[in-house]
Amino acid sequence: MIKRKIEFFRHNLSSQDKKECLKVLGSIFLTTGELVRQFEQKFAQYLKANYAVGISSCTDALFLTLKYIGVGRQDEVITTVLSYAATSNAIEYCGAKPIFIDVEPDTGNINADLIERAITPRTKAILVVHLYGLMCNMKKIRQIADKYHLKVIEDAAHCIEGKRDGVRVGELADFACFSFYATKTITSGEGGAITTNSKRAYDWFIKARLHGMSKNAADRYVKRYQHNDMEFLGYKCNMSNIAASLLVHQLDRIDIYLRRRESLARIYTQGFSKNTAIQMPEVLSNCVHARYLYTIWVDPKKRDEIVNKIQDKGIGVAVHFFPLHFLSYYRKKYGYKRGDFPVAERIGDKTISLPLYPRLSAKEIKYVIDTVNELTNYD
Ligand SMILES: *Cc1c(COP(=O)(O)O)cnc(C)c1O
Repeated sequence: MIKRKIEFFRHNLSSQDKKECLKVLGSIFLTTGELVRQFEQKFAQYLKANYAVGISSCTDALFLTLKYIGVGRQDEVITTVLSYAATSNAIEYCGAKPIFIDVEPDTGNINADLIERAITPRTKAILVVHLYGLMCNMKKIRQIADKYHLKVIEDAAHCIEGKRDGVRVGELADFACFSFYATKTITSGEGGAITTNSKRAYDWFIKARLHGMSKNAADRYVKRYQHNDMEFLGYKCNMSNIAASLLVHQLDRIDIYLRRRESLARIYTQGFSKNTAIQMPEVLSNCVHARYLYTIWVDPKKRDEIVNKIQDKGIGVAVHFFPLHFLSYYRKKYGYKRGDFPVAERIGDKTISLPLYPRLSAKEIKYVIDTVNELTNYD
């Protein structure tokens, strides 16, 4: 057996990113300051949003956004059942109830046709996830939200770079939340952001990420000492200059990385095209897919065995996702059972995510394709 190690993910920090980070480490301000401001400006510009706010994680970005729109006890937030736990956990932190919606069989995204019937007088918002990097049908979701006067939040942890029908991420929502966690397409290990076009929301987020204080440490340093008032009970989830220094130049390379992932995805799709034991989620032609994850669908009865065997061959793989209603916390709290969200369950049972990142070499991807083809041709 060939001894190889193809990690599930490798980051792309360049010498420029590291230099920028060293500059911060040699400066006074490790925490929120000039670098965060620079990153926010560039990030907002990339997404054509009026404002961006650097946050410590996407989870906190979602929580802060839900708090801003006043989600609390007795409230309901409509969301997809096929996501990472962060999405629905943010709703739980507010004391509200996530109302799970089943997904589209071809894409795994929230099924917009099922949203309207889930709306009740308690519904405050619709929180969608652009699964794997393919945008949800935001035009339709915005229409439904407007009809019932609901807010729309995009969990865009998988999709900074995507478009659908010419619409960008965050463009039709009230807020979009992003992640720069260790395995995302640009990363600072941990990190997040919120984009919005609302000045009022922006002003609130800037304070709410730092306890509701009116001035941050850098403000107080560059100006004369000023007393710092706390205007309301905020939280502690500001982005640091260290994180921003790693992100600020990655943002310049984000579309180069996307093109590289696009070409790798094409190689995968071509490599599996003759294997009848493998299907993949649909890539809609009206979309720019952010290509965050490349997932394949195999026989649900053999999925776990295939996952183990791929790993034995030295290839890192993952499962995105085990549907949220199957997680013990949600199952116990709300009494969910198998059969409640059949489409998401089916995807959860058959899905495998393969390595997809710019530094994956031609040799490596060929090895992954050959290995997966060999392991799935079981009859
Ligand atoms: C990674 C991820 C998050 C959480 O991001 P953090 O920055 O780690 O909080 C949220 N939602 C989805 C869909 C994710 O994949």
